[in-house]
Amino acid sequence: MNLTRRELLHYFGVTAATGLMGPGCIGWTREEAIPVDSWHKSVCRFCGSGCETRVGLRGGKVVKVEGLQAGWNRGRLCIKGLLNREILYVSDRAQYPMVRKDGQLVRVSWDEALDAAAAGFREAMAQGGPDAVAFYGSGQLFTQESYTANKLFKGGIGTNNVDGNPRLCMASAAFGYKSVFGADEPSGCYDDIEHATLFFVIGANMAECHPVVWERVRDRLRTAPETRVIVVDPRRTPTARDATLHLQIRPGTDVALLNAMAYELLRTGLVDPAFINDFVTFRKGTADSPPLTLEDLRAFLEDYAPEKVANLCGLSSAEIREAARLFGISQAALSFWTMGLNQQTHGVAANRMMMALHLLTGQIGRPGAGPFSLTGQTNAGGGVRDTGSLSHALPAGRVVTKEHDRQDMERLWGLPEGRISPHPGLSAVPLFEAMREGKVRAALVMATNPARSLPNADRYRVGMEKAFLVVSDSIFPTDTAQYADVFLPAAMWAEKEGVLSQSERRYHLVEKLVEPPGEARSDLDILVALGERLGHGALLKARTPEAVWDEWRMVSAGTTYDFSGMTYARLKELPGLTWPCPTEQHPGTCRRYVPGEDPLAKKEGRIDFYARPDGRAIVYLSEQGPFRESLTSDYPMTLTTGRRLEHWHTATLTGRIAQLKGIDIDYLEIHPGDAAVMGVKEGELVQVTSARGTVRLKALPSMRVRPGVVFALMHSTEHLVNAATSDYLDPTSAQPEYKLAAVRVERVKEGT
Ligand code: SF4
Repeated sequence: MNLTRRELLHYFGVTAATGLMGPGCIGWTREEAIPVDSWHKSVCRFCGSGCETRVGLRGGKVVKVEGLQAGWNRGRLCIKGLLNREILYVSDRAQYPMVRKDGQLVRVSWDEALDAAAAGFREAMAQGGPDAVAFYGSGQLFTQESYTANKLFKGGIGTNNVDGNPRLCMASAAFGYKSVFGADEPSGCYDDIEHATLFFVIGANMAECHPVVWERVRDRLRTAPETRVIVVDPRRTPTARDATLHLQIRPGTDVALLNAMAYELLRTGLVDPAFINDFVTFRKGTADSPPLTLEDLRAFLEDYAPEKVANLCGLSSAEIREAARLFGISQAALSFWTMGLNQQTHGVAANRMMMALHLLTGQIGRPGAGPFSLTGQTNAGGGVRDTGSLSHALPAGRVVTKEHDRQDMERLWGLPEGRISPHPGLSAVPLFEAMREGKVRAALVMATNPARSLPNADRYRVGMEKAFLVVSDSIFPTDTAQYADVFLPAAMWAEKEGVLSQSERRYHLVEKLVEPPGEARSDLDILVALGERLGHGALLKARTPEAVWDEWRMVSAGTTYDFSGMTYARLKELPGLTWPCPTEQHPGTCRRYVPGEDPLAKKEGRIDFYARPDGRAIVYLSEQGPFRESLTSDYPMTLTTGRRLEHWHTATLTGRIAQLKGIDIDYLEIHPGDAAVMGVKEGELVQVTSARGTVRLKALPSMRVRPGVVFALMHSTEHLVNAATSDYLDPTSAQPEYKLAAVRVERVKEGT
């Protein structure tokens, strides 16, 4: 079926331009209402917006998914939200465990599959020690699942080789928050949208990637038309169409732009000297470097005057000055960002500078004001960042390199002192490189598809080919499953129970409502069964979702992530709770660090940055730094990648929905001027070549992109866009630079 976007939206009864919908839309044309036996509260399993839903059951099946009126999303869902129902019932769900025999995956019993997985792990460890094995997880696992995997591998097996796909999308934000405020995760909440007078959106196409949050922004624009919107994006996205000022920046120059804005704010006096004096300190490099002064920052920023960086950024100095002015004069500036800022080799610096603009102007800790990074996947924050399921981390903000933190976790997990390794494990890209080199021999990959989602993907497919690999992610047979020696079918979303978080630090309970297909099991069950076979059954005493959640609450108690008051009973009752939430009476925290709102903020005054030893947040003096990959005559253009409304990541889920198969995802946006020079017309095949690999896509000449920049979607299931993307890493966060690759684009001659 080939459908235009308009036809598709009509099919789903969607009336708004972004594909948003809610019960009672005028012009609703969905299929006849299906009788529902019972309704149940749940949450969308797709993006980090975390829309709350109600799920209708009939005859043991999910027959309806609607937005929850009482939720933060006010009953709205985007098109993917409705597809929560469809993805349960597509025809090729994985149903049976399999083991590779004579080159073929063949159906076996669960016992045989788990025994084979455990034997493979034992063999790998016998040859190379605990660091010869690894866990690679996902922001789509429930919190209990990531927590248990982290415990099994770091506390049981004794390796810190625990990482996951949030490293690919959120690591720079996590390192940014931790280094600036002393604790990860945003300080504000979605209610701030109703108070903001300026939205500063950088590196985020919210209208397509966080569409329901964006619709709340639009509500604000409708009710307070004086509200301003600045969008910084190399593409003229649907988000940019709502902008008062669109800065169509050259990819990878965000630090220069933000520094120039800081320069301008200081030059024009649009800063908050009292806030700076009371709550801010200045550093360069690391949090424990010698303190600097505001005058040091002023001198440092001399090189970033708007007229000095305008050319680098591909903007005019007047545009930069105007952006700074709007930010500085706004009563409440709320910034949003996501992968556009994070997925570059200067990702941490860009995050730090974004936060610095708020600190210099005192635009934080007030209704409507604050730096707010959006989470890509539903549970990248709560499931992976909060539980410390990354190679350098331990639960609730602890890190493996601190003896005190390790001892804390050893005590809480009942482990002998010294059990947890003090050495950070391998993060995502180095982990797959270690597989290539034969250093990591066995890996458990859960709820993710690295064979398609890693940058420079062909290189790391070789690693998966070499390693003994267990794939349990597979609610479907993915590309990664092709490299599996043991394949474990997993339950998903309402087929199992667990907790998901979202961008505003809100936790939701997802209840088990229906049975998984065939013999599929929850990831928690799989982890416990594998842990037992590896001799760590005693460590995994908590085995039900509720028992693991209670343990996780206990582990968070007394930390800056305190979830102690989020009992299962409350999560069943309420449309989510935001942390910190230290007691069962606490209603959840909207704005962190604000005395009177945040129960952990003890000092009096405007704000208490209690996660920093001196109570002060840090403004870092951050260099723009050179491009890792220069444009040359061989590779004269810049490839950047992103998403569109209807699809999700590698389209493992959405690509299986019949109604979405007609949505074109295999195109390359190219500026009409560049297309004309190449003699390329719409629909003609072009080859995009980087120093790493090539991908062929249909040309789509479009004014959405800047001259010299081409854009491809990451969703393509037919073509491997990540064959060409860059695996250069941010030196601090180890997040890869998907947003910036030097490429050559050529017309493909017929027959070649
Ligand atoms: S905005 Fe995100 S969480 Fe909300 S319905 Fe769409 S995909 Fe789901």
